[in-house]
Amino acid sequence: MNKIKIYNTLSRKKEVFKPIHKNQVGMYSCGPTVYSYPTIGNHRTYIFSDILKRVLEYNNYKVKQIINVTDVGHLTSDADEGEDKIEKAAMKEGKSAKEIADFYFKIFREDFEKLNILSPEKWPRATEHIKEQIELIKILEKKGYTYKTGKAVYFDISKFKNYTNLSRQKLEDKNVGVRENVFVDKEKRNPQDFVLWFFTVGHFKDHALRWNSPFGIGFPGWHIECSAMSMKYLGKHFDIHTGGQDHIQIHHTNEIAQSEGATGKKFVNYWMHGAFLTYHGEKVSKSKGGLYTIFDLEERGFQPLSFRYLCLTTHYRKPLDFSLEKLKSSENSLERLKNKVCSCMDDGKINRKYLLDFENAINNDLNIPKALQVLWNLLRDEKAEGKFQTAKKMDSVLGLDLTEKEKISIPEKITKLAKERQKMREEKNWKKSDELRKKINNFGYTIEDNEKGFLIKKK
Ligand SMILES: [Zn+2]
Repeated sequence: MNKIKIYNTLSRKKEVFKPIHKNQVGMYSCGPTVYSYPTIGNHRTYIFSDILKRVLEYNNYKVKQIINVTDVGHLTSDADEGEDKIEKAAMKEGKSAKEIADFYFKIFREDFEKLNILSPEKWPRATEHIKEQIELIKILEKKGYTYKTGKAVYFDISKFKNYTNLSRQKLEDKNVGVRENVFVDKEKRNPQDFVLWFFTVGHFKDHALRWNSPFGIGFPGWHIECSAMSMKYLGKHFDIHTGGQDHIQIHHTNEIAQSEGATGKKFVNYWMHGAFLTYHGEKVSKSKGGLYTIFDLEERGFQPLSFRYLCLTTHYRKPLDFSLEKLKSSENSLERLKNKVCSCMDDGKINRKYLLDFENAINNDLNIPKALQVLWNLLRDEKAEGKFQTAKKMDSVLGLDLTEKEKISIPEKITKLAKERQKMREEKNWKKSDELRKKINNFGYTIEDNEKGFLIKKK
Protein backbone atom coordinates (compact mmCIF):
# COMPACT_ATOMS: atom_id res chain seq x y z
CA MET A 1 0.00 0.00 0.00
CA ASN A 2 1.20 3.51 -0.81
CA LYS A 3 2.25 5.84 1.94
CA ILE A 4 -0.14 8.70 2.47
CA LYS A 5 1.06 11.80 4.23
CA ILE A 6 -1.43 14.13 5.83
CA TYR A 7 -1.04 17.29 7.89
CA ASN A 8 -2.15 16.80 11.47
CA THR A 9 -3.24 20.00 13.21
CA LEU A 10 -2.53 18.31 16.54
CA SER A 11 1.21 17.98 15.82
CA ARG A 12 1.38 20.85 13.28
CA LYS A 13 3.26 18.40 11.05
CA LYS A 14 2.78 16.22 8.01
CA GLU A 15 2.57 12.64 9.23
CA VAL A 16 2.39 9.25 7.53
CA PHE A 17 -1.17 8.02 7.89
CA LYS A 18 -1.49 4.84 9.96
CA PRO A 19 -5.01 3.48 10.40
CA ILE A 20 -6.18 2.02 13.72
CA HIS A 21 -7.70 -0.98 11.92
CA LYS A 22 -6.00 -2.45 8.89
CA ASN A 23 -7.37 -1.10 5.58
CA GLN A 24 -10.16 0.79 7.31
CA VAL A 25 -10.62 4.43 8.18
CA GLY A 26 -13.10 5.99 10.56
CA MET A 27 -13.67 9.61 9.64
CA TYR A 28 -15.93 12.22 11.18
CA SER A 29 -16.67 15.53 9.47
CA CYS A 30 -18.47 18.28 11.33
CA GLY A 31 -21.67 18.84 9.43
CA PRO A 32 -24.04 21.66 8.67
CA THR A 33 -26.29 23.59 11.00
CA VAL A 34 -29.42 23.39 8.91
CA TYR A 35 -31.00 26.81 9.36
CA SER A 36 -30.32 28.55 6.02
CA TYR A 37 -28.91 27.91 2.54
CA PRO A 38 -25.38 26.51 2.75
CA THR A 39 -22.85 28.85 1.21
CA ILE A 40 -19.91 28.10 -1.04
CA GLY A 41 -17.73 28.87 1.98
CA ASN A 42 -19.26 25.86 3.77
CA HIS A 43 -18.92 23.73 0.66
CA ARG A 44 -15.22 24.40 0.25
CA THR A 45 -14.70 22.48 3.52
CA TYR A 46 -16.86 19.57 2.33
CA ILE A 47 -15.05 19.42 -1.00
CA PHE A 48 -11.81 19.13 0.99
CA SER A 49 -13.13 16.24 3.13
CA ASP A 50 -14.57 14.62 -0.01
CA ILE A 51 -11.16 14.71 -1.67
CA LEU A 52 -9.59 13.24 1.46
CA LYS A 53 -12.12 10.42 1.42
CA ARG A 54 -11.58 9.77 -2.29
CA VAL A 55 -7.79 9.73 -1.86
CA LEU A 56 -8.10 7.18 0.96
CA GLU A 57 -10.45 5.07 -1.19
CA TYR A 58 -8.10 5.38 -4.15
CA ASN A 59 -5.47 3.84 -1.87
CA ASN A 60 -7.83 0.93 -1.16
CA TYR A 61 -8.99 1.94 2.29
CA LYS A 62 -12.57 1.30 3.24
CA VAL A 63 -13.73 4.65 4.60
CA LYS A 64 -16.58 4.99 7.05
CA GLN A 65 -17.47 8.66 7.07
CA ILE A 66 -20.01 10.25 9.37
CA ILE A 67 -21.35 13.78 8.89
CA ASN A 68 -23.62 15.10 11.61
CA VAL A 69 -26.63 17.32 11.10
CA THR A 70 -26.97 20.05 13.72
CA ASP A 71 -30.64 20.71 14.24
CA VAL A 72 -30.48 22.06 17.79
CA GLY A 73 -28.06 23.77 20.15
CA HIS A 74 -25.89 25.80 17.76
CA LEU A 75 -26.12 29.37 18.93
CA THR A 76 -25.52 32.42 16.79
CA SER A 77 -21.99 32.50 18.19
CA ASP A 78 -19.78 29.39 18.40
CA ALA A 79 -19.25 30.23 22.03
CA ASP A 80 -22.40 29.74 24.08
CA GLU A 81 -23.88 33.12 23.40
CA GLY A 82 -26.82 34.41 21.43
CA GLU A 83 -29.81 32.51 20.15
CA ASP A 84 -30.35 29.03 18.77
CA LYS A 85 -29.89 29.32 14.99
CA ILE A 86 -32.68 26.89 14.10
CA GLU A 87 -35.22 28.35 16.49
CA LYS A 88 -34.42 31.85 15.29
CA ALA A 89 -34.98 30.81 11.65
CA ALA A 90 -38.20 28.98 12.59
CA MET A 91 -39.54 32.10 14.27
CA LYS A 92 -38.59 34.26 11.29
CA GLU A 93 -40.07 31.94 8.67
CA GLY A 94 -43.12 31.00 10.75
CA LYS A 95 -42.31 27.27 10.64
CA SER A 96 -41.47 24.61 13.17
CA ALA A 97 -37.84 23.87 13.99
CA LYS A 98 -38.20 20.47 12.35
CA GLU A 99 -39.61 21.95 9.14
CA ILE A 100 -36.68 24.35 8.98
CA ALA A 101 -34.14 21.59 9.59
CA ASP A 102 -35.75 19.22 7.05
CA PHE A 103 -35.94 21.88 4.36
CA TYR A 104 -32.34 23.05 4.60
CA PHE A 105 -30.97 19.55 5.05
CA LYS A 106 -32.62 18.62 1.75
CA ILE A 107 -31.00 21.59 0.04
CA PHE A 108 -27.67 20.61 1.56
CA ARG A 109 -27.86 17.08 0.15
CA GLU A 110 -28.88 18.42 -3.25
CA ASP A 111 -25.81 20.67 -3.21
CA PHE A 112 -23.67 17.64 -2.36
CA GLU A 113 -24.98 15.87 -5.45
CA LYS A 114 -24.40 18.87 -7.68
CA LEU A 115 -20.83 19.19 -6.40
CA ASN A 116 -20.14 15.44 -6.70
CA ILE A 117 -19.46 15.22 -2.98
CA LEU A 118 -19.92 11.60 -1.93
CA SER A 119 -22.53 11.01 0.74
CA PRO A 120 -21.33 9.78 4.12
CA GLU A 121 -22.28 6.40 5.48
CA LYS A 122 -24.59 8.15 7.92
CA TRP A 123 -26.06 11.60 8.58
CA PRO A 124 -26.93 11.46 12.28
CA ARG A 125 -29.09 14.27 13.61
CA ALA A 126 -28.52 15.91 16.98
CA THR A 127 -32.22 15.81 17.92
CA GLU A 128 -32.27 12.05 17.33
CA HIS A 129 -29.34 11.48 19.68
CA ILE A 130 -30.44 13.28 22.81
CA LYS A 131 -30.20 10.10 24.88
CA GLU A 132 -26.55 9.56 23.90
CA GLN A 133 -25.71 13.18 24.71
CA ILE A 134 -27.36 12.94 28.13
CA GLU A 135 -25.45 9.71 28.84
CA LEU A 136 -22.17 11.38 27.99
CA ILE A 137 -22.92 14.37 30.21
CA LYS A 138 -23.80 11.96 33.03
CA ILE A 139 -20.37 10.32 32.72
CA LEU A 140 -18.66 13.70 32.76
CA GLU A 141 -20.72 14.69 35.80
CA LYS A 142 -19.71 11.50 37.60
CA LYS A 143 -16.05 12.14 36.86
CA GLY A 144 -16.27 15.65 38.26
CA TYR A 145 -15.85 17.65 35.05
CA THR A 146 -19.15 19.49 35.27
CA TYR A 147 -20.95 22.05 37.40
CA LYS A 148 -24.40 23.52 37.31
CA THR A 149 -25.59 27.12 37.41
CA GLY A 150 -29.13 28.45 37.23
CA LYS A 151 -28.79 28.60 33.45
CA ALA A 152 -26.86 25.55 32.32
CA VAL A 153 -24.61 22.57 33.00
CA TYR A 154 -21.02 23.50 32.16
CA PHE A 155 -17.79 21.69 31.42
CA ASP A 156 -15.10 23.03 33.76
CA ILE A 157 -12.05 23.34 31.53
CA SER A 158 -9.68 23.77 34.48
CA LYS A 159 -10.33 20.09 35.32
CA PHE A 160 -9.02 18.90 31.95
CA LYS A 161 -5.31 19.43 31.85
CA ASN A 162 -4.68 19.21 28.10
CA TYR A 163 -7.42 21.65 27.14
CA THR A 164 -5.25 23.79 24.84
CA ASN A 165 -3.35 20.92 23.13
CA LEU A 166 -5.08 21.36 19.78
CA SER A 167 -5.43 25.14 19.71
CA ARG A 168 -2.03 25.83 21.35
CA GLN A 169 -3.54 28.96 22.80
CA LYS A 170 -2.71 30.56 26.06
CA LEU A 171 -5.85 30.55 28.15
CA GLU A 172 -5.34 34.21 29.00
CA ASP A 173 -5.75 35.00 25.28
CA LYS A 174 -9.24 33.65 25.29
CA ASN A 175 -10.58 35.88 28.03
CA VAL A 176 -13.30 37.14 25.84
CA GLY A 177 -16.24 35.97 27.94
CA VAL A 178 -16.91 39.49 29.14
CA ARG A 179 -18.49 40.73 25.92
CA GLU A 180 -21.90 42.32 26.19
CA ASN A 181 -24.26 39.60 25.08
CA VAL A 182 -27.70 38.16 25.52
CA PHE A 183 -26.43 35.01 27.15
CA VAL A 184 -24.03 35.91 29.91
CA ASP A 185 -23.79 33.70 32.92
CA LYS A 186 -22.10 35.34 35.87
CA GLU A 187 -21.86 32.02 37.68
CA LYS A 188 -19.39 30.63 35.12
CA ARG A 189 -16.08 29.62 36.71
CA ASN A 190 -13.76 30.14 33.74
CA PRO A 191 -14.47 32.22 30.61
CA GLN A 192 -13.79 29.19 28.40
CA ASP A 193 -16.16 26.84 30.24
CA PHE A 194 -18.75 25.70 27.77
CA VAL A 195 -22.34 24.53 27.97
CA LEU A 196 -23.19 20.84 27.88
CA TRP A 197 -26.88 21.35 28.62
CA PHE A 198 -28.94 24.55 28.51
CA PHE A 199 -31.95 24.96 30.78
CA THR A 200 -35.05 26.41 29.19
CA VAL A 201 -35.13 29.33 31.56
CA GLY A 202 -34.68 33.08 31.19
CA HIS A 203 -33.48 33.90 27.71
CA PHE A 204 -34.43 30.37 26.54
CA LYS A 205 -37.76 30.04 28.31
CA ASP A 206 -39.68 29.85 25.01
CA HIS A 207 -37.25 27.47 23.33
CA ALA A 208 -39.51 24.95 21.60
CA LEU A 209 -36.94 22.15 21.30
CA ARG A 210 -36.63 20.80 24.85
CA TRP A 211 -36.16 17.47 26.55
CA ASN A 212 -36.30 16.04 30.04
CA SER A 213 -32.96 15.16 31.54
CA PRO A 214 -31.58 14.24 34.97
CA PHE A 215 -30.14 17.79 35.10
CA GLY A 216 -33.39 19.59 34.29
CA ILE A 217 -35.55 20.36 31.24
CA GLY A 218 -33.57 21.88 28.39
CA PHE A 219 -31.50 21.16 25.29
CA PRO A 220 -27.90 20.13 24.57
CA GLY A 221 -25.03 22.47 23.70
CA TRP A 222 -23.52 22.28 20.23
CA HIS A 223 -20.20 20.62 21.09
CA ILE A 224 -21.55 17.59 22.94
CA GLU A 225 -23.43 16.28 19.90
CA CYS A 226 -20.24 15.74 17.91
CA SER A 227 -18.60 13.82 20.76
CA ALA A 228 -21.69 11.69 21.36
CA MET A 229 -22.43 10.88 17.72
CA SER A 230 -18.86 10.35 16.53
CA MET A 231 -18.18 7.90 19.35
CA LYS A 232 -21.49 6.13 18.80
CA TYR A 233 -20.76 5.41 15.14
CA LEU A 234 -16.96 5.27 15.02
CA GLY A 235 -15.97 4.14 18.51
CA LYS A 236 -14.21 5.93 21.36
CA HIS A 237 -10.99 6.18 19.41
CA PHE A 238 -11.02 6.74 15.67
CA ASP A 239 -8.76 7.87 12.85
CA ILE A 240 -9.61 11.23 11.31
CA HIS A 241 -11.71 14.22 12.28
CA THR A 242 -12.18 17.07 9.80
CA GLY A 243 -13.68 20.54 9.84
CA GLY A 244 -13.02 24.14 8.94
CA GLN A 245 -10.07 25.94 10.48
CA ASP A 246 -12.52 28.01 12.54
CA HIS A 247 -13.37 24.85 14.49
CA ILE A 248 -9.90 24.53 15.99
CA GLN A 249 -10.09 27.05 18.80
CA ILE A 250 -13.47 26.29 20.32
CA HIS A 251 -15.49 23.46 18.82
CA HIS A 252 -12.80 20.84 18.31
CA THR A 253 -10.94 21.86 21.44
CA ASN A 254 -14.16 21.28 23.37
CA GLU A 255 -14.87 17.99 21.61
CA ILE A 256 -11.49 16.65 22.73
CA ALA A 257 -12.05 17.80 26.33
CA GLN A 258 -15.48 16.12 26.53
CA SER A 259 -14.54 12.90 24.78
CA GLU A 260 -11.17 12.32 26.43
CA GLY A 261 -12.57 13.48 29.75
CA ALA A 262 -15.29 10.85 29.51
CA THR A 263 -13.26 7.92 28.16
CA GLY A 264 -9.86 8.64 29.64
CA LYS A 265 -8.21 7.81 26.31
CA LYS A 266 -7.15 9.43 23.11
CA PHE A 267 -10.13 10.50 21.00
CA VAL A 268 -8.83 11.08 17.46
CA ASN A 269 -5.45 10.41 15.83
CA TYR A 270 -5.50 12.98 13.00
CA TRP A 271 -7.23 16.36 13.06
CA MET A 272 -7.47 17.97 9.65
CA HIS A 273 -8.77 21.43 8.82
CA GLY A 274 -9.65 23.21 5.62
CA ALA A 275 -8.73 26.86 5.14
CA PHE A 276 -11.26 29.57 4.47
CA LEU A 277 -12.83 30.70 1.26
CA THR A 278 -12.14 34.41 1.15
CA TYR A 279 -13.55 37.36 -0.72
CA HIS A 280 -11.28 40.34 -1.37
CA GLY A 281 -8.84 38.72 1.04
CA GLU A 282 -11.21 38.22 3.98
CA LYS A 283 -13.27 35.25 5.07
CA VAL A 284 -16.61 35.24 3.25
CA SER A 285 -19.26 36.57 5.59
CA LYS A 286 -22.40 38.62 5.74
CA SER A 287 -20.46 41.80 6.32
CA LYS A 288 -17.55 41.16 3.91
CA GLY A 289 -19.58 39.57 1.13
CA GLY A 290 -18.99 36.56 -1.09
CA LEU A 291 -21.71 34.51 0.60
CA TYR A 292 -23.00 32.89 -2.57
CA THR A 293 -25.07 29.75 -2.52
CA ILE A 294 -24.97 27.07 -5.22
CA PHE A 295 -28.37 28.31 -6.33
CA ASP A 296 -26.96 31.85 -6.73
CA LEU A 297 -24.22 30.48 -8.99
CA GLU A 298 -26.69 28.46 -11.04
CA GLU A 299 -28.85 31.52 -11.45
CA ARG A 300 -25.87 33.26 -12.96
CA GLY A 301 -25.56 30.41 -15.44
CA PHE A 302 -22.64 28.56 -13.79
CA GLN A 303 -22.37 24.83 -13.48
CA PRO A 304 -21.82 23.85 -9.83
CA LEU A 305 -18.86 21.68 -10.81
CA SER A 306 -16.98 24.82 -11.89
CA PHE A 307 -16.86 25.70 -8.20
CA ARG A 308 -15.46 22.26 -7.42
CA TYR A 309 -12.80 22.79 -10.09
CA LEU A 310 -11.94 26.18 -8.60
CA CYS A 311 -11.49 24.57 -5.17
CA LEU A 312 -9.14 21.97 -6.62
CA THR A 313 -6.81 24.64 -7.95
CA THR A 314 -5.75 25.73 -4.44
CA HIS A 315 -4.33 23.52 -1.68
CA TYR A 316 -6.88 22.91 1.08
CA ARG A 317 -4.69 24.49 3.74
CA LYS A 318 -4.35 27.77 1.85
CA PRO A 319 -7.03 30.45 1.68
CA LEU A 320 -8.85 30.57 -1.65
CA ASP A 321 -9.97 33.97 -2.78
CA PHE A 322 -13.28 33.73 -4.59
CA SER A 323 -14.61 35.93 -7.36
CA LEU A 324 -17.11 35.40 -10.16
CA GLU A 325 -14.30 36.09 -12.68
CA LYS A 326 -12.23 33.28 -11.21
CA LEU A 327 -15.26 31.03 -11.30
CA LYS A 328 -15.77 31.88 -14.96
CA SER A 329 -12.20 30.98 -15.80
CA SER A 330 -12.56 27.73 -13.83
CA GLU A 331 -15.67 26.94 -15.82
CA ASN A 332 -13.75 27.48 -19.05
CA SER A 333 -10.86 25.33 -17.86
CA LEU A 334 -13.20 22.57 -16.81
CA GLU A 335 -14.94 22.59 -20.18
CA ARG A 336 -11.62 22.50 -22.00
CA LEU A 337 -10.41 19.67 -19.80
CA LYS A 338 -13.58 17.70 -20.37
CA ASN A 339 -13.42 18.22 -24.13
CA LYS A 340 -9.83 17.07 -24.20
CA VAL A 341 -10.60 13.91 -22.20
CA CYS A 342 -13.70 13.09 -24.23
CA SER A 343 -11.87 13.54 -27.53
CA CYS A 344 -9.12 11.06 -26.50
CA MET A 345 -9.23 7.71 -28.18
CA ASP A 346 -9.68 4.95 -25.61
CA ASP A 347 -6.80 2.53 -26.23
CA GLY A 348 -7.64 0.65 -23.01
CA LYS A 349 -4.20 1.38 -21.55
CA ILE A 350 -3.06 3.09 -18.37
CA ASN A 351 -0.15 5.52 -18.50
CA ARG A 352 1.90 4.38 -15.48
CA LYS A 353 4.35 7.29 -15.58
CA TYR A 354 1.74 10.01 -15.31
CA LEU A 355 -0.37 8.00 -12.90
CA LEU A 356 2.60 7.63 -10.57
CA ASP A 357 3.18 11.40 -10.60
CA PHE A 358 -0.50 11.87 -9.87
CA GLU A 359 -0.40 9.42 -6.95
CA ASN A 360 2.68 11.08 -5.49
CA ALA A 361 0.85 14.40 -5.54
CA ILE A 362 -2.43 13.24 -4.00
CA ASN A 363 -0.65 11.19 -1.33
CA ASN A 364 1.46 14.17 -0.31
CA ASP A 365 -1.09 15.88 1.93
CA LEU A 366 -3.64 16.08 -0.89
CA ASN A 367 -1.65 18.18 -3.30
CA ILE A 368 -4.56 18.38 -5.73
CA PRO A 369 -3.37 21.52 -7.61
CA LYS A 370 -0.28 19.52 -8.59
CA ALA A 371 -2.33 16.42 -9.40
CA LEU A 372 -4.52 18.51 -11.69
CA GLN A 373 -1.40 19.82 -13.40
CA VAL A 374 -0.23 16.24 -13.99
CA LEU A 375 -3.53 15.50 -15.72
CA TRP A 376 -3.19 18.57 -17.96
CA ASN A 377 0.38 17.55 -18.82
CA LEU A 378 -0.77 14.06 -19.74
CA LEU A 379 -3.43 15.43 -22.07
CA ARG A 380 -0.99 17.83 -23.71
CA ASP A 381 1.64 15.15 -24.22
CA GLU A 382 1.15 14.16 -27.84
CA LYS A 383 3.12 10.94 -27.53
CA ALA A 384 1.49 9.69 -24.34
CA GLU A 385 -0.53 6.50 -24.42
CA GLY A 386 -3.51 5.53 -22.27
CA LYS A 387 -4.82 9.04 -21.92
CA PHE A 388 -8.51 8.20 -21.60
CA GLN A 389 -8.30 5.40 -19.03
CA THR A 390 -5.65 7.24 -17.00
CA ALA A 391 -7.77 10.41 -16.92
CA LYS A 392 -10.77 8.34 -15.90
CA LYS A 393 -8.82 6.83 -13.01
CA MET A 394 -7.60 10.25 -11.91
CA ASP A 395 -11.15 11.54 -12.04
CA SER A 396 -12.16 9.02 -9.36
CA VAL A 397 -10.27 11.37 -7.03
CA LEU A 398 -11.04 14.70 -8.71
CA GLY A 399 -14.77 14.02 -9.12
CA LEU A 400 -15.24 16.30 -12.13
CA ASP A 401 -17.28 13.96 -14.37
CA LEU A 402 -14.55 14.25 -17.00
CA THR A 403 -15.69 11.27 -19.01
CA GLU A 404 -19.39 12.06 -18.91
CA LYS A 405 -19.81 14.19 -21.96
CA GLU A 406 -23.54 14.57 -21.75
CA LYS A 407 -23.93 15.46 -18.12
CA ILE A 408 -24.72 19.10 -17.79
CA SER A 409 -26.77 20.45 -14.99
CA ILE A 410 -29.65 22.73 -15.79
CA PRO A 411 -30.07 25.57 -13.30
CA GLU A 412 -33.30 25.47 -11.34
CA LYS A 413 -34.24 28.88 -12.64
CA ILE A 414 -34.21 27.61 -16.24
CA THR A 415 -36.26 24.54 -15.35
CA LYS A 416 -38.77 26.80 -13.64
CA LEU A 417 -39.05 29.00 -16.74
CA ALA A 418 -39.48 25.94 -18.92
CA LYS A 419 -42.27 24.63 -16.71
CA GLU A 420 -43.97 27.99 -16.79
CA ARG A 421 -43.72 27.98 -20.58
CA GLN A 422 -45.19 24.49 -20.71
CA LYS A 423 -48.16 25.70 -18.69
CA MET A 424 -48.65 28.65 -21.05
CA ARG A 425 -48.61 26.28 -24.02
CA GLU A 426 -51.25 24.10 -22.39
CA GLU A 427 -53.35 27.21 -21.92
CA LYS A 428 -52.63 28.10 -25.56
CA ASN A 429 -51.10 31.40 -24.50
CA TRP A 430 -48.64 31.42 -27.40
CA LYS A 431 -47.47 34.97 -26.89
CA LYS A 432 -46.39 34.38 -23.30
CA SER A 433 -44.88 30.98 -24.13
CA ASP A 434 -42.83 32.58 -26.89
CA GLU A 435 -41.56 35.25 -24.55
CA LEU A 436 -40.46 32.58 -22.09
CA ARG A 437 -38.66 30.69 -24.84
CA LYS A 438 -36.71 33.82 -25.69
CA LYS A 439 -35.87 34.34 -22.04
CA ILE A 440 -34.52 30.78 -21.80
CA ASN A 441 -32.48 31.34 -24.98
CA ASN A 442 -31.01 34.50 -23.50
CA PHE A 443 -29.70 32.48 -20.55
CA GLY A 444 -27.83 30.27 -23.01
CA TYR A 445 -30.26 27.32 -23.18
CA THR A 446 -32.55 25.94 -25.84
CA ILE A 447 -35.79 24.12 -25.37
CA GLU A 448 -37.21 21.35 -27.53
CA ASP A 449 -40.78 20.13 -27.26
CA ASN A 450 -41.48 16.42 -27.42
CA GLU A 451 -44.31 14.03 -26.60
CA LYS A 452 -43.27 13.82 -22.93
CA GLY A 453 -43.09 17.59 -22.53
CA PHE A 454 -39.80 19.34 -23.16
CA LEU A 455 -36.04 18.93 -23.17
CA ILE A 456 -33.64 21.67 -22.12
CA LYS A 457 -30.17 21.83 -23.67
CA LYS A 458 -27.22 24.13 -23.22
CA LYS A 459 -26.52 26.15 -26.38
ZN1 LIG B 1 -18.63 19.13 15.19
